[in-house]
Amino acid sequence: MSQLTEFELIAQYFSRQKHIRSDVLLGQGDDCAVVTTTPATQIAVTTDTMVAGVHFDAHMPARAIGHKLVAVNLSDLAAMGAEPAWLSLAITMPEVDTKWIEDFTAGMYELAEYYHCQLIGGDTTRGPLTLTLTAQGLLPEGQKLTRAGAKPGDWIFVSGCLGDAAAALAVQQGLLEATDFVRHQLEERLFYPTPRVALGQAIRHAATSCVDVSDGLVADLGHILQRSNVGARLFLHQLPYSKVMLGLDEEQRRDFALFGGDDYELCFTVPEEERGALETSLAHSGVSLTCIGQIDKQPGLRMFDHQQEVSAQGRGYQHFAAAKDSPKG
Ligand SMILES: [Mg+2]
Repeated sequence: MSQLTEFELIAQYFSRQKHIRSDVLLGQGDDCAVVTTTPATQIAVTTDTMVAGVHFDAHMPARAIGHKLVAVNLSDLAAMGAEPAWLSLAITMPEVDTKWIEDFTAGMYELAEYYHCQLIGGDTTRGPLTLTLTAQGLLPEGQKLTRAGAKPGDWIFVSGCLGDAAAALAVQQGLLEATDFVRHQLEERLFYPTPRVALGQAIRHAATSCVDVSDGLVADLGHILQRSNVGARLFLHQLPYSKVMLGLDEEQRRDFALFGGDDYELCFTVPEEERGALETSLAHSGVSLTCIGQIDKQPGLRMFDHQQEVSAQGRGYQHFAAAKDSPKG
């Protein structure tokens, strides 16, 4: 146990980031931070909490926890089409573990600086390990991307690939066998998710709705359907997988993709007339996009394997879906 006081701790570890944004007029060290914006800018705000023993455990390195805390928040900003700007951190710790804090802040700053995001303030208290981050992002006036707005006929797209993080969790829990190589590949996606920040801004004009996949594709697409007051057909044979996931049996990887979560990919809807231009403009963006379904008028989500409709109920892995509790947002 270190002899550092709370304030020395803050000074040493949470004030280390360079002043990287000119819109931060006053950062840490006063009663409040002060930031400024240009007139036609709106601000998107999101908060996520990660609790030890709930959202992460001893398997997860401190650097990964720092990375993931920033990533899950930036993923919510990405889903709104916002450009990340400012972070505020509230951290509760049972004791001052300087090695842990050093690794945690390294993971946090690596990702924050990549996205030109500045930590502008926070609070440190003693108690069970709990991390709460608020992220604020900038939006051109009237251009926010929401869960409402999907229309019948719109195509449903998802970025990247699905299910790896859920499979990693299943390996950790002894529900899935894997070689060390496979476990490492899957854990990289669970520990170091990539928020689709550039993609969120790139689809602002073309997409009619968007959500980030934090709780599993079925749950998060369900939010779009509910808020947009529409239904959808999901094409199971189109779901995108990593090479490692293709090594699992089909039923298993589908369940991870549909119900697992922690993917932090974007799921969004695009009208037919915007589809070609969007796919062309993003062909070289480095993020793969897959069309996985179509919005229709009939309420609810119906799943198809090629032409065959399949029931989502009564399949395996429901215990897994129910047990999972990822940071919401
Ligand atoms: Mg979200």
